[in-house]
Amino acid sequence: MAEGGSAPPPGSAGGGPATNQAATNQAATNQPATNQPATNQPATNEEWFARAQAVIPGGVDSPVRSFASVGGTPFTVVRGEGPYVFDVEGNRYLDFVQSYGAILLGHAHPVVTEAIATAAARGTTFGMPTPGEVLLAEDICARVPGCERVRLVSSGTEAAMSVLRLARGVTGRDRVVKFDGCYHGHADALLAGGGSGVAMLGRPGSAGVTRASVADTLVVEYNAVPELDDSVAAVIVEPVAANMNLVAPAPGFLEGLRAACDRVGALLIFDEVITGFRLGVGGATAMSGVTPDLWCFGKVIGGGLPVGAFGGRAELTDALAPTGPVYQAGTLSGNPLATAAGHAVLGLVTEVEYRDLSDRAARFATALEAAITEGGLGARTSSVGPLVGLVVGPPGVRPPVPRGIADVREAAGSGAYSKLFHALIARGVALAPGPYEVLFPGFSHDDGHLGEAVSAAGEAAREVAARWA
Ligand code: PLP
Repeated sequence: MAEGGSAPPPGSAGGGPATNQAATNQAATNQPATNQPATNQPATNEEWFARAQAVIPGGVDSPVRSFASVGGTPFTVVRGEGPYVFDVEGNRYLDFVQSYGAILLGHAHPVVTEAIATAAARGTTFGMPTPGEVLLAEDICARVPGCERVRLVSSGTEAAMSVLRLARGVTGRDRVVKFDGCYHGHADALLAGGGSGVAMLGRPGSAGVTRASVADTLVVEYNAVPELDDSVAAVIVEPVAANMNLVAPAPGFLEGLRAACDRVGALLIFDEVITGFRLGVGGATAMSGVTPDLWCFGKVIGGGLPVGAFGGRAELTDALAPTGPVYQAGTLSGNPLATAAGHAVLGLVTEVEYRDLSDRAARFATALEAAITEGGLGARTSSVGPLVGLVVGPPGVRPPVPRGIADVREAAGSGAYSKLFHALIARGVALAPGPYEVLFPGFSHDDGHLGEAVSAAGEAAREVAARWA
């Protein structure tokens, strides 16, 4: 959906390289800043991506952005507004990526933008305590039942890496159990791969991760409570799995993990980097009624800026330096801009609004599945709170509701998602460029936007089904 080259508004928080035309030109050409626009700025997504590939590995700063799994060239975003993002060619997309869940209220929400601007005007980082970090930590502890203290860091990866160290430090044990298909960031110990359904020990999930660094990581099947022993320091889990498409915890799974951990004195860690402050005020913890020992958070709590957090009961977090022996630190931790943005976001949403959003998302999921199915492709959608899962299959093949990564892998193998993805992009609707992600309808998506996406999906499915070989 082209939008005719509209200029970004001053102060828009799109976050792309061209939110401010003069700044972009300067950065892109390495020329001194001037009020005159430079003339050699790329005009197209192809050109920007070619230029990116010359200086950034694969042209992206995070692999999924590259379109590697769906093919084609990624569009380069210059700004966002509410549910929309706009690319360098002036195309507008109804955005269901929402920065992979970091954006809850929509892009460039004025209250959040104002909070960031106000904080920036006071200075961007001090390396000293600030009120903003206290306010955000209070927000988190007040909302998540059982979480008494949190330490702020700069990403979800850092939060997961640090919470693991804390768990090992507290228990004096080495082994950690994670679930196949759950993602906890790219720290070495958590990049262990595992074949679905098969417990695996110590198989690195990436080149560069040594056997030694994953030797104590046990990968087991999601939605099955593993047998634990007293070598296990912690079990880390996405309480609603949102990195293998959307996989809801089976009834009794989280309760079973709680009991299994208690039996052997292991700590239960909920990775709420996605679910925290997205499923509801109290995240998956409140929704499930299961209280872990430790948590990690990220995404929403930074309001679109880089933040993570990990925490738990005070008796556990007291083991962190400076009060305890587990070292963890960060120059930009608790950054004033990020904490201001996160505090602004959390202050704007109430349980009632989360419930409305969840209802909207559930209706959307149902309508989306119907539209794609009527269009002629196989489809299965699901929702948990406002998270929406979409699994696409070939014509006539309705994929099962995924219970684990194997189901998602099988559906992804058909290539139907990639085809639908491109047909939707052509209609101005942006899903994530990969079949393992979820859709993030947020507070800026109203029924009208969701209806637009459903209509586009029906048309897109018809086009793909008609061409299916
Ligand atoms: N944990 C979960 C559940 C995530 O989904 C992610 C990222 O998608 C992470 C941790 C890592 O967070 P970040 O990308 O901020 O490092």
